Amino acid sequence: MKDGREIAFIGIGSNMGDPTANCLEAITRLEIVGDIEILSRSSLYKTAPIGSKEQDWFVNCVVGVATTLGPLPLLKKLMIIEDSMGRVRKEKWGERIIDLDILLYGDKIVREEGLTIPHPLMHERGFVLIPLEEIAPDVPHPVLNMSISLVADMVRDQKVVRIG
Ligand code: AMP
Repeated sequence: MKDGREIAFIGIGSNMGDPTANCLEAITRLEIVGDIEILSRSSLYKTAPIGSKEQDWFVNCVVGVATTLGPLPLLKKLMIIEDSMGRVRKEKWGERIIDLDILLYGDKIVREEGLTIPHPLMHERGFVLIPLEEIAPDVPHPVLNMSISLVADMVRDQKVVRIG
């Protein structure tokens, strides 16, 4: 952005307790932790869990933000919000009260210990791409060099249901 801030897209998901309320709570916390302004928010979507099928369905959404934070400080803030909402880190694909992922950070490609941007699995996940497409259809995926809409074309067979 002209003011020196970067536009980032953050994926939000929950499948414990009241997942819709958890996603909305995470957005509220994103707004109050400082240095992050919410610019856009997708609808909420209901999606089947990947991994252990014993889990409840997820609610997912994506927000677009403007931030002065670099990628690693932004990730740190996301982790603080996850922890503050009672996230317990156990099974990799296990159920979770809240999950916050940096999907895109401007057109930057980041490959650092503990942080890969674009998020390394986003191109195969309908629950990320369908909400992201809603708010950023023409934004390029900097590794695939394709618009998000074109990337989303590859996951249209996945069950992602808009719930509001
Ligand atoms: P998860 O279980 O999905 O919350 O994974 C969290 C771990 O993924 C954290 O320890 C992060 O260091 C790592 N990670 C790597 N790339 C990203 C990213 N783009 N956004 C969020 N977490 C990431």
